[in-house]
Amino acid sequence: MAAFKGDGLKEGLENALTLHQRLGLTPLVNAAGTFTPLGVSRSSPVVAAAVAEALQGFFVIDELQAAVSRAAAQATGAEAAAVTHCVAAGIALAVAAAMTGGDPAKVRALPDSSGMPDRVVLPAGHAVDYGHPLLTDIRLAGATPVLAGSQQRCHLAQLDAALAGPRTAALLLVSSRLVVGEPLDLAAAVAAAHRRGVPAIIDGAAQDLRVETLLATGADAVLLSAHKYLAAPTAGLLVGRAAFVAAFRAQDRGIGRAMKASKEALVGVLAALSERGRLDRAAWCRDQHEKVARMTRHLRAAGIDASAVPDPAGMPLERVRVSVDASKGPDATALAVQLKSGTPSIRVMEHEVVQGSLLFELVPLAAAECELIVERLVRALRRPPVSN
Ligand SMILES: *Cc1c(COP(=O)(O)O)cnc(C)c1O
Repeated sequence: MAAFKGDGLKEGLENALTLHQRLGLTPLVNAAGTFTPLGVSRSSPVVAAAVAEALQGFFVIDELQAAVSRAAAQATGAEAAAVTHCVAAGIALAVAAAMTGGDPAKVRALPDSSGMPDRVVLPAGHAVDYGHPLLTDIRLAGATPVLAGSQQRCHLAQLDAALAGPRTAALLLVSSRLVVGEPLDLAAAVAAAHRRGVPAIIDGAAQDLRVETLLATGADAVLLSAHKYLAAPTAGLLVGRAAFVAAFRAQDRGIGRAMKASKEALVGVLAALSERGRLDRAAWCRDQHEKVARMTRHLRAAGIDASAVPDPAGMPLERVRVSVDASKGPDATALAVQLKSGTPSIRVMEHEVVQGSLLFELVPLAAAECELIVERLVRALRRPPVSN
């Protein structure tokens, strides 16, 4: 029997090791949110099994795209949907769809945009950097970004003046906590574009639980990262008007080839959409709220300044904010370094370190991981005992 032979035993032991142990990788507790450099999200066993099965078969890709289109349309109320590699790719392909209308000769020509409308208007505060500049995604299609207004604010009149320019291909809006400046009424911005006969695209990458609200703006297309809160394999999901989706799909014969959706991504997205359809949203929100409340309670009981903060972009979830007093212990930057350098390495949101705070997103974390975060914070922030 294999188990009694030396080789078999060694193999058995090797199988008992985790992937991180086998490959010598850093074990992580990711409280930094749906963050690309850390693997974004955790798929469920059902989604993982669907992906494994997909990897072992052949498929007519158009049939898988059609199946996702039906499932996403049913889930969101949009007319149709399509999948590409990710939202960064999706922005480039949505811009290409607006520029070409799906015309085969124009599709083949891009990114050479000679003779096509090539200006993509966006409010200046929407030109975010989510690890690279969003403007790069526009330029990848051969288009030129045109910023309206300032970082502080973009009035509708400024947006309209930019949309009125010649060769305007599309309006691009972003719904994200990364957007800066005075909030813009997205529905009014979409209406302004439509009055000029310009299609409107919304990047709602991490906003899938608000997709109905984003579609209700009247936008022609909304882009969602399937690997963020939907927890599918890496994929960009475009939902919107059927004609726009068709022009988007047509890019497969042009720049879209370099950004294709894999068979395993398509099958994984289908499984994740089906799981989302069965989700009891109210119960999910209650669970997330309770997880955040419990951690906040435990930290406060240990004398740590902790509070629950809602998502600034309106996703139905909260995060834990821990604020430190640098005169009494490590400052926020030093605390983040301390959490990162332990085992497992705890990664957190660091965009408020200047204000003395760290943020913790708990959505994908198990109870034991939340407890570990509390333990490590208590250890790091416990005052050194007063001598004598
Ligand atoms: C994450 C994100 C993206 C990129 O999404 P990918 O699917 O990872 O390419 C684009 N825009 C915003 C606002 C994001 O948060």
